Amino acid sequence: MRIVLATTNENKLREVREILGSDYEVLSPADVGVNVDIEEDGETFEENAIKKAEHVMRLCGEITLADDSGLEIDYLNGEPGVHSSRFMGEDTPYSVKNHAILEKLKDARGSQRSARFVCAVAAALPGKYTIIAQETLEGEIATVPRGENGFGYDPIFYVPKYKMTTAELPPDRKNKISHRGKAFRAVAERLARVEW
Ligand code: IMP
Repeated sequence: MRIVLATTNENKLREVREILGSDYEVLSPADVGVNVDIEEDGETFEENAIKKAEHVMRLCGEITLADDSGLEIDYLNGEPGVHSSRFMGEDTPYSVKNHAILEKLKDARGSQRSARFVCAVAAALPGKYTIIAQETLEGEIATVPRGENGFGYDPIFYVPKYKMTTAELPPDRKNKISHRGKAFRAVAERLARVEW
């Protein structure tokens, strides 16, 4: 199945190609002649994913998927949440953002450090409807950054079950358990059952 992924982020395109496997041809908006920068100004992950998928689908007329994701930290009342990429400024290195979060949580102990990665995926179907799935990966904020894999907040996101941060997990293992992996697979399963 040929789908467009509404992102200009090459890392995301690669990760989603790995998650969906060879049954899917994953194209970028540029591959189908679409050049847009959509503002993620929604209040929820789902709102942002739907907005991006439907906007690009209307421009290219193809099945279009989009995701929106972020890190919710309970001790910070769910922040950075939908503001995860803009937290402390889009251009601030994640080493700085991650240290700032560890500092904010310096008095948090045990279960007070609970957090989750969240990912909403929308698939906008031309002339039909939009499929939505949202999944999480539960974990906690580590006390020191660890690991070199992944991106963003991975070095400070500790998964107790694996006794590792998501930056220490091998990429294929992260894709199996991650918020993004689970949400894209859930949408793909429902896409496969659509009657055209
Ligand atoms: P967006 O979904 O591209 O709008 O951005 C989501 C932001 O959330 C990223 O820029 C990261 O800061 C954070 N984020 C989402 N998923 C992950 C992940 O798997 N690892 C690390 N950070 C993530």
